[in-house]
Amino acid sequence: MNLKPEIEACFEALKSIRRHLHAHPEIGLETVETAAFVKEKLDSFGIGYEDIGVNSLLAKIEGRGPGKTVAFRADMDGLETAEETGLPYHSQVEGRMHACGHDGHTAIMLAFARYLSDHRGFDGTVLLLFQSGEEGFGGALEVIEDGLFEKHDIDFMFGLHNWPGYAVNQIVVHPGACMASEDRFDLVIRGRSGHASVPHLCVEPFAAVADFIKGAQTVIPRKVSAHDKAVISITQVHGGSAYNIIPDEVVIRGNVRTTDAHVQDLIEESLGKLADGIAAMYGVSTSFAYHRKHPVLRNSTPEPAMKAAARVVGEENVLTGELPAMGSEDYAFFMQRTKGCFVWVGNGEDSPVIHNSKYDFNDQAILVGASFFVEILEKVMRQP
Ligand SMILES: [Zn+2]
Ligand SMILES: [Zn+2]
Repeated sequence: MNLKPEIEACFEALKSIRRHLHAHPEIGLETVETAAFVKEKLDSFGIGYEDIGVNSLLAKIEGRGPGKTVAFRADMDGLETAEETGLPYHSQVEGRMHACGHDGHTAIMLAFARYLSDHRGFDGTVLLLFQSGEEGFGGALEVIEDGLFEKHDIDFMFGLHNWPGYAVNQIVVHPGACMASEDRFDLVIRGRSGHASVPHLCVEPFAAVADFIKGAQTVIPRKVSAHDKAVISITQVHGGSAYNIIPDEVVIRGNVRTTDAHVQDLIEESLGKLADGIAAMYGVSTSFAYHRKHPVLRNSTPEPAMKAAARVVGEENVLTGELPAMGSEDYAFFMQRTKGCFVWVGNGEDSPVIHNSKYDFNDQAILVGASFFVEILEKVMRQP
């Protein structure tokens, strides 16, 4: 691998930064201590920053002259799950852990910041976004609503996620869709309650529930093209309180993933029609709500990422034919506003999957990720 020697020389310090973050996970938008820790490090590197969004911050490094503005993003939040790694730097907060490696992403960005503080020989401006609330808390939207793109004329934005199952010397770049959209739906089915012995005198909602769930299984094979990717999962059913009462109401909730925006429209419409259909068939009333949580993460500008990755890990270790993940990422909102790319850096072939209680970020990936960011800056800034 072709890692930046100046970054490699700091490996011990970077490792302890990452492990400190790992031991002190914070959740959602409440990354108060993490942001304070990042600010302290940026102060020591002589890098200025501003608060943005909710407990997110944006560091700014000016080069030697005018040029493009290139932003990089790291997420900082952990997850509400109990850690079972048994590591010496195990989470000190019960029921919370860095199970998605955002401790590593933050360490990568600090490694990059430290490198840039000594290497300002580029033209243009670099922005480093340390973001809260990626794990479903709308952290990216908070940053956007606080004026990220109005206050700064961002030409490109780059980000990465560690990815278990790939070796630490492999980088995955998707030209196009990288991660799926996430939508959520709620269906309330209302009948009329009564004694379990006389369903004919009630409006019994469960037969309608069963038909909706069964019908939802047919939407993908029958409505979505075999060339498109989509997942529909029913994840909650709530209703009933006794053995001998037919309830008034049952609520069904679910989750939809796809890598094409037109498939989102198709699924929303199909599930809505299914709800109307069961209402007509069973005499229940239904109210169906479909919420779009995250858009598809689509990489508009994969070329500089591919070239930069090849510089760091060698061309044979840059994988460009991998399938997109059906998980979602709020980085997708940034890609709706500017050009850029989001890549996966291997976390080790034997690494437990992300969000697993035994997951741990691979410290070697700090060097790969930070070296990749350095290379990308050179590639992008040199472009006409
Ligand atoms: Zn996650
Ligand atoms: Zn994550």
